[in-house]
Amino acid sequence: MVDLARYIRDIPDYPKPGILFRDITPMLADPEALKTAAHAMAEPFMDQQIDIVAAAEARGFIFAAPLAMQLGAGFVPIRKPGKLPFDLHSFAYELEYGSDELQVHIDGVKPGQRVLIVDDLLATGGTMEACCRLLEKCDAKIVGCSFLIHLANLGGEQRLNPYTCHSVLTYD
Ligand code: IMP
Repeated sequence: MVDLARYIRDIPDYPKPGILFRDITPMLADPEALKTAAHAMAEPFMDQQIDIVAAAEARGFIFAAPLAMQLGAGFVPIRKPGKLPFDLHSFAYELEYGSDELQVHIDGVKPGQRVLIVDDLLATGGTMEACCRLLEKCDAKIVGCSFLIHLANLGGEQRLNPYTCHSVLTYD
């Protein structure tokens, strides 16, 4: 079994002083580590009849397509404004400084479809909460959220309560 933590590179003071950035690119570059990570993210949802795997750009996309293929599901992209060409649902949310917005095609997820949302990392949970709220506008059934990494002391899991969260690696 591959020790995935060995492939995560810690970058101090990135993107700003005081932040310890967890860089997943060494893991993505290793074929066995990438396969192990994608399997571990999908595993708890294998028997959950997932119809759609959804993810927000950009790092969520990396895992979404391989998870969709493992789960026999489709993939739906969640994007920043100005990127999707058809009719949209939008959800605006607050960041530490300023605000942001995510969008999805109105027909991306059909009412009642069972959705797994994935991202590389759960920190404060703001991004994933926005994804959940956005997909609720489609009347999706959100089965869970799957992450490669969970930064456990930032309150993300509490923020996402009562959604089911799964993460492969946890850092305090
Ligand atoms: P949150 O919205 O605070 O939970 O932050 C999660 C989002 O920020 C994810 O989409 C991540 O891609 C990104 N992110 C935050 N911190 C890191 C990190 O240390 N490494 C990689 N991505 C990060």
